[in-house]
Amino acid sequence: MTDQYDFIVIGGGSGGIASARRAAEYGANVAVIESGALGGTCVNVGCVPKKVMWNASQVAETLSLAPSYGFDISVKGFNWPSLKGARDAYVSRLNGIYERNLENSGVSLIRGLAKFENDNTVSVNGQKLTAPHILVATGGRPTVPNVPGAELGIDSDGFFELNQQPEKPLIVGAGYIAVEVAGLLHGLGSKVTLALRKDKVLRSFDQTLSNVLMEQMQQAGVDIKTQSQPLELTRNDDGTISYATMDGPQEGSYDCVLWAIGRHPNTRSLDLEKAGVNTDSRGFISVDDAQNTSAKGIYALGDATTSAPLTPVAIAAGRKLATRLFLGDQTSKMDYENIPTVIFSHPPIGTVGMTEGEAVEKFGRDNLKIYTSRFINMLYAVSEEKLPTTVKLITQGDREEIVGCHLIGDAADEMLQGFAVAIKMGATKADFDRTVAIHPTAAEELVTLR
Ligand code: FAD
Ligand code: NDP
Repeated sequence: MTDQYDFIVIGGGSGGIASARRAAEYGANVAVIESGALGGTCVNVGCVPKKVMWNASQVAETLSLAPSYGFDISVKGFNWPSLKGARDAYVSRLNGIYERNLENSGVSLIRGLAKFENDNTVSVNGQKLTAPHILVATGGRPTVPNVPGAELGIDSDGFFELNQQPEKPLIVGAGYIAVEVAGLLHGLGSKVTLALRKDKVLRSFDQTLSNVLMEQMQQAGVDIKTQSQPLELTRNDDGTISYATMDGPQEGSYDCVLWAIGRHPNTRSLDLEKAGVNTDSRGFISVDDAQNTSAKGIYALGDATTSAPLTPVAIAAGRKLATRLFLGDQTSKMDYENIPTVIFSHPPIGTVGMTEGEAVEKFGRDNLKIYTSRFINMLYAVSEEKLPTTVKLITQGDREEIVGCHLIGDAADEMLQGFAVAIKMGATKADFDRTVAIHPTAAEELVTLR
């Protein structure tokens, strides 16, 4: 027997759940198929457990500042298993909330691995489901390189399974996950080495952010090895792991190696060809600006596509799609311009809009005016440690429209959202200048730049 729905969503992660619930709100009969834990990457092995770990290392940093503020404290230790237990319990609570939310929205949840039979039929556990509209929101998973001994390392999913804190980890990669995990493990007391295959972290971001983060991580004591791409891992007699690059075996041995070199889409097992859905050579589903794939009635979004792999992007695209399909609003499309993002590194980064390099390429150097400031947050007013914050605004044209805003330093993570609203609305430098500063904050620097 084939079950008939208005909308089938494959993947109960950020984008899938958001789209399914919004469609159900509009009266559609919706099924979500999920093969793993509800909530997907973000809730189970992404943003949520990562942020808990980042918070823990922020607490460690605050504790280190406490004596400067007059506190006579002694920290007796840090218990990783206890933090992991609390974190996992929080994630389990969220899994339950997601399940109840689906139930309350009237969405049918089907557990299992879905694949296409044809362009309107999906099968799961031998059961066939059909719908005129099918959304693929299957996300992605960590990439592990095809090098000898790669299996001795773990990926970000494995990081969240660690029952003990690695004492001397090697983190391979230069992007979001590499710098976030390196920063938080260092903050919690691990002796971290970060291996970059090129010469910088976060190469695709504004170079000020990349340079400042690199400098501050090194000053904090993270050992950053450049031009150091592991091409082999080997297990030593004492159980530690060493690595070799094209220059041969490298010095050092590690109790944990983490691959953080990017992610690839969960699309291979979907039998997309049976439905006529095209992908690029890496398996990412090709979509137009309204999430349509090459097959009529089949849509894709989030990490299964090449859009910015961020939770709010998948959620927004999912909701927009549901509004277009079930409320009939044909203008309801995700706007992929000026997506703000935060990197929970130490210190954190907030960034929206163009990098300086992109702005120069688009508008020409002569049409840009760039404002930067480097200052010490008042958090360090009474401490020996003085960590700088750097802010940068990129403006273009006579009106000095703000086309890029880049922040690195304490509270950059919480600072960016409001500025991102202003920039999305087309704010100019003059708009920032006539906004009264809030004193004393780090954010006020952005409205007092000269
Ligand atoms: P997912 O949330 O991954 O959901 C896909 C779901 O589909 C999964 O549950 C999977 O089990 C299921 N599935 C796959 N194939 C099938 C199938 N054939 N049948 C049935 N079900 C299937 N983003 C942020 O915005 N902020 C952050 O701080 C942040 N931190 C991150 C930290 C880490 C370590 C990682 C790995 C990612 C982080 N991200 C963050 C990115 C964010 O998690 C993803 O962009 C987001 O989860 C993508 O949502 P999605 O709906 O596309 O896919
Ligand atoms: P990223 O794409 O951010 O970074 C991966 C980097 O690893 C590449 O840019 C590359 O840098 C390097 N790399 C690639 N291949 C190799 C290799 N074979 N050997 C060594 N280094 C290599 O991927 P992540 O895995 O860090 O994160 C995936 C995505 O998840 C992110 O893009 C982000 O969108 C999302 N995410 C978001 C977070 C947030 O919002 N705070 C947090 C975590 C993840 P180079 O070319 O310089 O060598």
